Amino acid sequence: MKLVGDLSPHFSRHEFGGEPHADLIRALELLRLNALGKPLVIVSGIRTTTSNAAVGGAPNSQHLLKRAADIPAGYATPRQAARAGFRGIGITGDGRWAVHVDVRRGRRAAWRYGGGGGGLGPGGGFWETVRWPGS
Ligand SMILES: [Zn+2]
Repeated sequence: MKLVGDLSPHFSRHEFGGEPHADLIRALELLRLNALGKPLVIVSGIRTTTSNAAVGGAPNSQHLLKRAADIPAGYATPRQAARAGFRGIGITGDGRWAVHVDVRRGRRAAWRYGGGGGGLGPGGGFWETVRWPGS
């Protein structure tokens, strides 16, 4: 296999804005493998306190800890993200797609953007906690 990334076979630092946690890269490679190698675009990777505030990220965002990535809707279902080993999964309002994945420590969590309850999520929108999308 030809190595195209400087972090792993398919991912490079420039896509994340630095070097993310190794567990994040491992899970992203697995997610990509499960998608039969379909190219995976990183929408948002590592954030500074300033850049996180600018996009309306949660103050305790896993992006600040280099443990999170946002990915495009349409790439992976919440269940596929859970199977790849992610422990935090943000899901589109219709429940179909994982758009935030992270490798947080501690309790795993899943939430849906655009819900009526919960708190303020990325972009200032609402989110609500949902059941873990396990198998
Ligand atoms: Zn995110």
